[in-house]
Amino acid sequence: MKVFCEACKSEAETKASGIAPLEEILPPRWKRRLIDGRSYILCDICGHPKQLLGAFSPYLIDALGLDEHAICEEIPEREDFYAPRANKE
Ligand SMILES: [Zn+2]
Repeated sequence: MKVFCEACKSEAETKASGIAPLEEILPPRWKRRLIDGRSYILCDICGHPKQLLGAFSPYLIDALGLDEHAICEEIPEREDFYAPRANKE
């Protein structure tokens, strides 16, 4: 089964078939992001927390047709993208 990034339209093959939950079959670091109550499949680049936290990148706003004040729901795995953990708080 193929999945498409909704922002850049790149595609990837998933290993899955059948009824596995989408989150479990997406390629590494591909994510389903909830933005303003809508879910989007985003690739590892477009769905990177850097693109989503704080202000959306103009690229994503344009690609997804977002409101510039759109909010992305919490990104629980953001630490995955920033290992090793920086000294922050
Ligand atoms: Zn993408």
